[in-house]
Amino acid sequence: MQSTKSWLEISEERLRRNYDTLVRLCIAEDRSASVLAVVKARAYGHGAGLCAQVLASAGASWLGVTDAQEGALVRRSLDRTYDSREVQPRILVMCAPLPEDAAMIVANQLTPVVWSGHHLDWFSHASTAGASIPIHLEIDTGMSRQGVQPGTALDLLLDRLSKTPQLRLEGVLTHFASAEISGSSLTALQRQRFETALTQVGDRGLRPEWIHIGNSSVIDEANSLPWLQQIASRYGARSLVRSGLALYGYCLPLENASSALRDLLAPVLSWKSRIVDLHDLPPGATIGYNGAFMAPAAMRLALLPVGYADGLRRELSASNAQPGGWCMLHGRRAPIIGRVSMNLTTIDVTSIPHASFGDEVTLLGDGITAEDHAGIAHTIPYEILCGLRAEPSS
Ligand SMILES: *Cc1c(COP(=O)(O)O)cnc(C)c1O
Repeated sequence: MQSTKSWLEISEERLRRNYDTLVRLCIAEDRSASVLAVVKARAYGHGAGLCAQVLASAGASWLGVTDAQEGALVRRSLDRTYDSREVQPRILVMCAPLPEDAAMIVANQLTPVVWSGHHLDWFSHASTAGASIPIHLEIDTGMSRQGVQPGTALDLLLDRLSKTPQLRLEGVLTHFASAEISGSSLTALQRQRFETALTQVGDRGLRPEWIHIGNSSVIDEANSLPWLQQIASRYGARSLVRSGLALYGYCLPLENASSALRDLLAPVLSWKSRIVDLHDLPPGATIGYNGAFMAPAAMRLALLPVGYADGLRRELSASNAQPGGWCMLHGRRAPIIGRVSMNLTTIDVTSIPHASFGDEVTLLGDGITAEDHAGIAHTIPYEILCGLRAEPSS
């Protein structure tokens, strides 16, 4: 049963609009990239099944998931909205495949990202009679995370691939470490390495259909898309940009350039809870663990049935010396008071006298963003969003 203590509200309209904005920015004179809509990590906490349906209906032809399990969930969710004759979006499994997941990836028509001989073995064994499995080859150009290095390692892998007729090289990708830094020397180096890898692939007569890079900031930063378009057309491939965060209405600030994207996006998610108790405190009352906050005057507090177990970061706690986070209540800021505990949080409603039992409180949404939380918790909006444990209300 869905918890009534806190819940997410997902604006399908905003999700669709953000997607449309990204698509529009990817198409201009010097660029014509498609958008791969990333719904990994439960769509950054928004719910992968629902977001995949919305994005698919908005026209997304590629979705990106974390692993085989999430891919299968997204496939089932699309099955519910597509006629059996209709062509569904492709689903890219973005993170390292596991041998035991190869069969599930193939059975659900998911597309794996691969970069090692083991990967080729697992997927060639998982292929069923006659069918060739499309694979996307990741090139490590500087993240040292996933991917094969250009040069000898890539050559050896391409040798093995040429002896694996069950697999078809459909895509080649890399991931930028500093896409949000305009003019980054690391990005310049990564581009160079990617071009080397593509030359190696092209020299063998392989013609991947898709060449892709990440992430959202690529769409925001002026130079990346024209470059992608240029290298893709060199190999007769189509270009694709993997974007996640921007779909959900956030983007990293660009360094050394101004962001066109930022003002065009709207946060998709609201996280709400409700007041489950109210109490009046005399001056000097201590509030929460360690008495970190002591009422300097008479105060009225409201109790919320959420805490860090739900993803409400403990860094949002407030002492008398150090203010913390806030919620929105009746359109006004209600500061968090004392320490956020595991399942409970207290907020100051002294100046909102009509606050009542059952009133809806916005933990994230209009008036309080994931960027606000990230700023206070010294992290990035990504971690705030995918750390939420609440489920979308339906
Ligand atoms: C998460 C991820 C993306 C999307 O990144 P955003 O910054 O959310 O746009 C793209 N590519 C890869 C490989 C990723 O892991």
